[in-house]
Amino acid sequence: MSRTDILMTAPMMPVVIETLDKAFTLHRLWEQDDREAFLETIGPRIRGIATSTLYGRLEASLLDRLPSVEIIASFGVGYDNVDAAEAARRGIVVTNTPGVLDDEVADLTIGLLLATLRKIPQADRYLREGQWLKAPFPLSATLRERKVGIVGLGRIGKAIARRLSGFDVGIAYHGRSRQPDVAYPYYPTVTDLAQASDVLIVITPGGPSTRHLIDAQVLQALGPNGVLINVARGSVVDEQALIEALRSGTILSAGLDVYEDEPRVPQELIAMEHVVLLPHVASGSVHTRKAMGKLVADNLIAWFDDKGPLTPVPETPYKGRVD
Ligand code: NDP
Repeated sequence: MSRTDILMTAPMMPVVIETLDKAFTLHRLWEQDDREAFLETIGPRIRGIATSTLYGRLEASLLDRLPSVEIIASFGVGYDNVDAAEAARRGIVVTNTPGVLDDEVADLTIGLLLATLRKIPQADRYLREGQWLKAPFPLSATLRERKVGIVGLGRIGKAIARRLSGFDVGIAYHGRSRQPDVAYPYYPTVTDLAQASDVLIVITPGGPSTRHLIDAQVLQALGPNGVLINVARGSVVDEQALIEALRSGTILSAGLDVYEDEPRVPQELIAMEHVVLLPHVASGSVHTRKAMGKLVADNLIAWFDDKGPLTPVPETPYKGRVD
């Protein structure tokens, strides 16, 4: 029996490639010198795609060339790189990698929050530049007595809240609806949450429904002692409004893991001393990236074993049950 043809759009971890190589005939799109010829000859045979939120959008024009695709397994819990509604329209199942990265992303978020408030990277630079020999490092802001607003109290938001509960800070949240089993104060608008908080942690999905959810008005409400931490998606924050708010002192500082046009980061942010900038690394440990990669492979293997997708996204047309 011929093996199932799978397309990988960009390189993933060796362990994922090895697993997929064993189970399927794996085609590597990035290695195709003549992409047009590849899509012409092999394209119609491709039945599954392994792709990643780390490598840009999976364009509809590519799907047009792959008429036999049944499943797109995307690496990452956020799947704004795939138009899941359009995939559903074509009858294609989309899977993501929820759950396996919650703790890692929550750990990093707490690290970024403390780094931003206590200026940990700046203090490190100060020492290395020999400035400590001339004068002590200036005193920093603090997490003490702060109220933290979480925008998006989902799997990762809750893991962040659990960690924060050990830090003796107030916690409140915003989402589209109140969660009956959650005791933290709920704010139906993000502006009201910002008004009541002096740290705002953003951990919603990306995509059109959250685009620029954090805008100039929200930053104004956060206020001059306010700190914005964005570990969600760059699109959730109006980056120009944020730059302006940081420049004018409308808010105190920001810690960012994600940007509107990754990997390009605005020079205005890079030039600011009072922000901490990370290159989209919240889930980026070997341990967690391996777990995410395994889930990508397991979804493809389960699907082609007729066991259904393991972690389908809500938009997906699959209504069956995993046995
Ligand atoms: P969940 O689906 O478990 O949680 C998402 C939360 O966002 C829910 O509480 C939801 O609440 C809220 N939400 C959704 N839409 C809106 C909206 N329009 N306005 C306000 N709140 C909204 O997802 P996860 O916790 O697993 O992941 C969250 C996101 O974190 C991912 O989608 C991804 O974008 C980002 N992420 C970033 C990483 C990084 O490397 N920086 C790594 C991993 C994830 P409700 O339904 O009540 O609105």
